[in-house]
Amino acid sequence: MSVREGGCSCGDVRYRLTTEPMFVHCCHCLNCQRQTGSAFVINLLIEADRVKLLSGEPKPVDVPRDDGSTQRIYRCPACQVAVFSEYGRPAVRFVRGGTLDDPSTVEPDVHIFTRSRVPWVTLPDSTPAFEVYYDTKTLWPVESLERLRAILPPAGTEGAS
Ligand SMILES: [Zn+2]
Ligand SMILES: [Zn+2]
Repeated sequence: MSVREGGCSCGDVRYRLTTEPMFVHCCHCLNCQRQTGSAFVINLLIEADRVKLLSGEPKPVDVPRDDGSTQRIYRCPACQVAVFSEYGRPAVRFVRGGTLDDPSTVEPDVHIFTRSRVPWVTLPDSTPAFEVYYDTKTLWPVESLERLRAILPPAGTEGAS
């Protein structure tokens, strides 16, 4: 297992992931494109208590989404870089892959919201891809499902992007 660390641009916020993530999303939705100013976001889904803060205190900012909901994004209070976010469930962090010291150590387990994928991004055949979302129970490894069950109430195991 590789221990991954990451942080913001100014160095105020530093974090360490104490285990592997449960699952890795590559999301091509328009919200993620707008939030990142890029073509997609890489999100490492991991238990909040496995994201160990080494320094700094990311500040939550509630950001409107196209469906009328809000998404809580945690930013460095100094340089404002977004390091992770939440989709209504504080127990699960969505750590932004680009903030890792070595983003190349992570590959997406799934591509989602490919209906809004920019046409010049070509997806590998080897990774599952979905026009919108997918069924967590059929796609996640058993160990990851058990980890998710351990931190969530029985209902509501469906995720977001
Ligand atoms: Zn910073
Ligand atoms: Zn998205």
